[in-house]
Amino acid sequence: MQTSVLIVGQGLCGTWLSFWLQQLGIDCVVIDEERPNTSTRVASGVINPVTGRRMTRTWMADEVIPFAVKAYEELGRKITAKYEVRSSRERTFSPAQEQQQPATTLIQRCDIIDFFNSPDRRKDFEEKAKQYAAEYLQWPEDEAAMQQHFRYELGYGIIAPAYQVDLQTMLDGWRQYLLQHQQLLAQRFDASQLQLLPDGVQYQDIRADKIVFADGIAANAAGFFQLLPFALNKGEALILKIDGLPNNHIYKKGNSLTPWRGGYFWAGSTYNNHYTNDQPSEAFRQQMEAWLQSVLKHPFTVLDHVAAIRPATVERRPFAGWHPQHPQVGILNGTGTKGVTLAPYFAQQLAANIAQQTPLLPAVDVARFARVLSRM
Ligand SMILES: Cc1cc2nc3c(=O)[nH]c(=O)nc-3n(C[C@H](O)[C@H](O)[C@H](O)COP(=O)(O)OP(=O)(O)OC[C@H]3O[C@@H](n4cnc5c(N)ncnc54)[C@H](O)[C@@H]3O)c2cc1C
Repeated sequence: MQTSVLIVGQGLCGTWLSFWLQQLGIDCVVIDEERPNTSTRVASGVINPVTGRRMTRTWMADEVIPFAVKAYEELGRKITAKYEVRSSRERTFSPAQEQQQPATTLIQRCDIIDFFNSPDRRKDFEEKAKQYAAEYLQWPEDEAAMQQHFRYELGYGIIAPAYQVDLQTMLDGWRQYLLQHQQLLAQRFDASQLQLLPDGVQYQDIRADKIVFADGIAANAAGFFQLLPFALNKGEALILKIDGLPNNHIYKKGNSLTPWRGGYFWAGSTYNNHYTNDQPSEAFRQQMEAWLQSVLKHPFTVLDHVAAIRPATVERRPFAGWHPQHPQVGILNGTGTKGVTLAPYFAQQLAANIAQQTPLLPAVDVARFARVLSRM
């Protein structure tokens, strides 16, 4: 089999890179071993314009957020009902019927109810609300409006617009799309079978011009890019049933409660860089249940407990581009806590770089680590 680009991994990075390559008319094949606890599978899918305790504006927010919103809408138009079905009983549509399939809604606009944990936090919000000229930080008409749902004393502000992406539907739908177009190999990539050729790569029976690793935390453990400054951290979440809580907001009070598919809620998370494994921990479950009992006025049932390691980086910037010694070997990774926001934009940049040799943003280009990578 001959292809232009072989992509390892179909998380957020691999999904977006394969999508944009396809849009640009560049042939690609994705190899992905489906695992339940990858970062994209367990993420809450939030695009938040203002983050962290200091409420700092998301890096490049004005560019990457509007870009991401359009991109998820565009991807939703590809993942119609035909590909949403995750079963061997595929629905078949005639080309005309396929054209008429309604787009899948992958992204929803929502707001974040940001309960103040301390007077200082409230003051901070007041100051930042002036600074950001009410662009993202607003005040509710009635700060008592959430009293029937939550215990809180110091009021709340609203962060808007924020967005939430249904990552499960995105992963499954795009996987089906790739499978049906013979562009996905559902298997483990075995690095020992990769051969570098002067003008490309050979992997089993696939001859490709380039290979791009979008393999999440695996890149930190082995391979061409393992010397990059990753700073992995573990996150966990509970999936909950909460009757009576409106699911058109994201709620934040130290932890977050985010609407989840099926009318459920996602409660998380931790940023643990001293983890010993990638499994759900009893300590997190106890801590999260105690938090829920203290803040929530509705009863809740725990349906699931998930965990994954985030492919974060020391500089908090993604990694994109080409190995300095092997220009046919590339990477798209390191989206950290912001994959939903950053992956569409930088995957498009990498796809355009492949198709038209347009430059990558220096802040993400792994050329900045040429010296480190040359040690391999
Ligand atoms: C608890 C939690 C909550 C989060 N919430 C948010 C959020 O609200 N908003 C946000 O923007 N970000 C969030 N993130 C971060 C976000 O999930 C990541 O930035 C993003 O998903 C990383 O995507 P990726 O494609 O690089 O990696 P991954 O999602 O890990 O994808 C890598 C893929 O490569 C495959 N793979 C790896 N090795 C091989 C191999 N040898 N052979 C075959 N396949 C292989 C894996 O199976 C996987 O499918 C969260 C993360 C966590 C853990």
